[in-house]
Amino acid sequence: MSDVDAIVVGSGAGGLSAALRLRQLGASVLLLEAMPSFGGYMNPFTRNGYTFDTGVHYLGKLGPGGSFRQLLELLELDQAVQFAEINPHGFDRYLFPDFELQICKGRQLYRERLQALFPEEKKAVQAYFNVIERLLSAFSDPHGPPKTFFDRIRYIFRHPVLMKYHRATYQKLLDGITRNPRLLAALSAHCGNSGLPPSQASAFVCLMLLDHYMEGAFYPKGGSGALRDAFVDALTRKKAVLRNRMPVTAIARKQGRFVVSTANGDTFSAKTVISNADPLIAFRQIIDPDIIPRAAKKKIARMRPSAGAFYAFIGTSLDLAAAGMTDANIIHFAHHDVDRCFASISARGAADPFAYFFITSPSLKDPHGRHAPDGQHCLEIISGLGNDHAFKPWAGIASRKRGDAYNRLKEETGLHLIRSAERYIPGLSRNLDFVEFATPLSNAYWVNSFEGGNFGPDQTPDQFGPGRFLDCTTGIEGLFIAGAGAISGGVLSCMASGVWAAQQAVELLNRLEGRKGDKP
Ligand SMILES: Cc1cc2nc3c(=O)[nH]c(=O)nc-3n(C[C@H](O)[C@H](O)[C@H](O)COP(=O)(O)OP(=O)(O)OC[C@H]3O[C@@H](n4cnc5c(N)ncnc54)[C@H](O)[C@@H]3O)c2cc1C
Repeated sequence: MSDVDAIVVGSGAGGLSAALRLRQLGASVLLLEAMPSFGGYMNPFTRNGYTFDTGVHYLGKLGPGGSFRQLLELLELDQAVQFAEINPHGFDRYLFPDFELQICKGRQLYRERLQALFPEEKKAVQAYFNVIERLLSAFSDPHGPPKTFFDRIRYIFRHPVLMKYHRATYQKLLDGITRNPRLLAALSAHCGNSGLPPSQASAFVCLMLLDHYMEGAFYPKGGSGALRDAFVDALTRKKAVLRNRMPVTAIARKQGRFVVSTANGDTFSAKTVISNADPLIAFRQIIDPDIIPRAAKKKIARMRPSAGAFYAFIGTSLDLAAAGMTDANIIHFAHHDVDRCFASISARGAADPFAYFFITSPSLKDPHGRHAPDGQHCLEIISGLGNDHAFKPWAGIASRKRGDAYNRLKEETGLHLIRSAERYIPGLSRNLDFVEFATPLSNAYWVNSFEGGNFGPDQTPDQFGPGRFLDCTTGIEGLFIAGAGAISGGVLSCMASGVWAAQQAVELLNRLEGRKGDKP
C-alpha cells in the first residue's frame, strides 16, 4: 500500500487543477482516473479523422487580466495552450421565430445592442445591467470573502443584492425587470448554459454565466484535448503519478490516513484526498458512510442531479461557411417562452421537432486545429433531455450492451435532431460523412456523472453556495471536493475549485506535519 500526501480521485478540470496545484506546492500526488483517458468532460474523442469535444465549446475570462487567464498563469499553463477568439461581434446567435440576438463582447456594447433591439425597453435593459453591476461588485468585494459569522452579516448588509436574489430563480429576477415576452426571451436565451429553464435556474448562476463571456468567448486551439494535454504534460513534468483505468470504489479512514481502494483491488493511502467525482456518486457510493458527518449526509440526501444532454456528433463535407455558418454558436428556440422550449424537450415524442438546440463547429472555431480531414467539417448539435428522458430504462446496462431498442431510439432521436437543425444548415442530413449520437447514459459511463448530468448537482438557487460544496470542504478533515459539485459547473469554476481544494489540503498537511511549505 503506497502512501502519498494527497490522492486526487478523477481527472476532470477540477481534478487536474487540484493535482497540479498540489505539485506546485510541494505535495506528493497520486491521481486515479477511472477511464482510459484523462480529462472528464475535457476529454475529446476521435472517429474517422474527426475530433469532437464533449464538454468544452467556449470559454470566457481569457483576455488579459481575466480570471481564467490568471488561473492559467498561476498553474503555469498560460504558454502551454493558445486560444482562438470567437467572433467578438457575435459569438452566440440566439434564434427566435421573429428575431435574432447575437451576444457580443463588452457589457456596454451588449447593453446597447439590447436597447437598440428593444428601444421601448431601454430602462428595463438598464435595470438588468444594474443588477449585474451590483452582483459583480459583491463578488469582487475588496474586503474579501467573509470568514466569520459577523463578517458574513456585514457583507450581506454591504450588498443587499445578495439578500434579494440569493434564493431567487432567474425568472423571478427577470419578472422584476420586464413583462415584455420578447425581451424576456432575449434575456433568458443564455440560460441553457446553466442546464435549466429560467423558472428553475439560480439567478446568480445565470448572471454569472452571462458575465463569463462579456470579455469575449474563446476556444482552445486544438480543442478541449489541447487544454487537457497541457495539464497532463505539466503534471508529468512535475512527477505527479497519474494512473488511468483506476475506478475508485471506496474511501475510508484508518489510523489517521485515508485508504482509497479501486475496483482492480489496489489500495493506496494518503493524508488527504481531493475527490473530483460527482458528489452524488462520491457520497452515496464511495466514501465510507461512517466518516460522513450528519450535515453532509443531509445535504447529499436533498441534492438533485443536473439533467443530461443528447448529442449528435457529425462529420460533413458540406461547405458550412457557404451554408451561412460561422465560428459563432447557433442556439435555436422554437418560441419566446424559453421555459416551454425546455419543457417540450423533456416531454417530446420522437416525432416532435426539437424546441431548443445548440450547434457548434470545432473546425470553424479553430480552422487550423485539424479537427476534421481536409475540406471537411465537424459539428456538434446538443439538446437537453430533462431528467425524465426516454433513455432511462437502459441506465445501468453497460455501453454497447443496451440492445436494438435503445440503439433504434437513439438513432431516431439523433436523425430528428439533425433534421431540426437543417433549418440553419440546409442539406445536412444528406451530407453525413460520419455521425454518432450520445445520450445521458453515455455521459454517465464516460465521466461517471450521476445519471449523466451535465453540470454536477442541478444549478437551482438552493444548490448554489451553501447548497453545494462551495468552499470545497466536506466536514471530513482532509477530504475535499473539486469540480462541478463545488462552486458550479463550467471549466473555470471547476479549475478554481481544484486550486482552492489543493491549497486547503496543503495548509492542512503543513499543519499536520508542522512542516514549513510554500505558503498557498
Ligand atoms: C454538453 C456540455 C457542454 C458544456 N459546455 C461547456 C462550455 O462550453 N464551457 C464550459 O466552461 N463548460 C462547459 N460544460 C461544463 C464543463 O465541461 C464541466 O462543468 C467541467 O468540465 C466538469 O469538470 P469536473 O472537474 O467536474 O470533472 P468531470 O469533467 O465531471 O470529470 C470527472 C472525472 O472524474 C472521473 N471519476 C469519476 N468517478 C471516479 C471514480 N470513482 N474513480 C476514478 N475516477 C472517477 C471521471 O471518469 C472523470 O474523468 C459543458 C458540459 C456539458 C455536459
